[in-house]
Amino acid sequence: MNALSVDPRQVEAFAAHLEKSGRVQPFDFCSLGEGFIYPGRNQPGALDYFFFACAHQFGFWTLAGNRWAAPMVARLDGRALKGSDFLWRACTRAAQKDPLIFDPASLAARSNHSLSELFRDDSGANPLPLWPEHLALLRGYARWFADRATTPAEVVRRIHAAPKPLFALLALLAEIPGYAEDPLQKKAMLLAIALENRPEHFLHVADPGSAVPIIDYHLQRSALRTGLVRVDDPALRAKLEARVLLSAPEESRVRAATYAAIATLIARSGLSAAAVDWFFFQNRTRCPETTEPDCAACPVAPFCARETRLFQPVFRTTAY
Ligand code: SF4
Repeated sequence: MNALSVDPRQVEAFAAHLEKSGRVQPFDFCSLGEGFIYPGRNQPGALDYFFFACAHQFGFWTLAGNRWAAPMVARLDGRALKGSDFLWRACTRAAQKDPLIFDPASLAARSNHSLSELFRDDSGANPLPLWPEHLALLRGYARWFADRATTPAEVVRRIHAAPKPLFALLALLAEIPGYAEDPLQKKAMLLAIALENRPEHFLHVADPGSAVPIIDYHLQRSALRTGLVRVDDPALRAKLEARVLLSAPEESRVRAATYAAIATLIARSGLSAAAVDWFFFQNRTRCPETTEPDCAACPVAPFCARETRLFQPVFRTTAY
């Protein structure tokens, strides 16, 4: 028996729903929170910003013993922000003060203390739960660009010379610290959809077939709860329900099954990876981690399996 399986009936129900709703669009990484969460349109330094910030979209939760404890939430500029929004805002704040700050050469010239200061919250602390991992990736990232005497802008110029720009971008990011560690390329594809859909349209995709699903922890939770992915192993189910640490093979099986389900959903619905990702990203607030899911307000309620006790893999990784 496999520990997990993709439920084809749920994939079909989702595909039909997404096709019918007509409201599933890619997010532009700007309009919700322009100038606060995300840089304003045409803000200088935005390309370097996205190259940097997408690589740091991981680990926004805390652990107590071997159990998931809470999402990371910190106050910044007077607002309580969950991890991902906190990171975007901290980077936007830094880029508003110094548009060149996320140029890899500028990052390389800064001390560890000054880099940590970029993420200072309103209490004066850096609240990122995995700061040492962020710092190590940041140093490797800056070194990669320095060793090749290149920049994100030059990378974008190069990949547009290729017949398949998205494929070329993903292939290049597979070498760059901050992106290279994840074989499923979650952060790399996140960067691709941000560059493509930002108002500046930094990336022109001639090869949408090169897109890959973006599998983070919110999406895995949604896939498990909705029944897109069924958990057939009682021992794994018990661990997912108890929110305790999974082993690397267990996490890998959950994530691989979710990847397969979303890849099939993208193919069946005809929607872009970006549109499907935005649908599930929005679902994180209807089907959250710390409060009961709001099924009454959920558009997939009519066919959802409502496995509300299931939780995303609890696993420390810099991939998501
Ligand atoms: S909110 Fe309810 S209906 Fe919606 S995905 Fe979560 S469990 Fe399913």
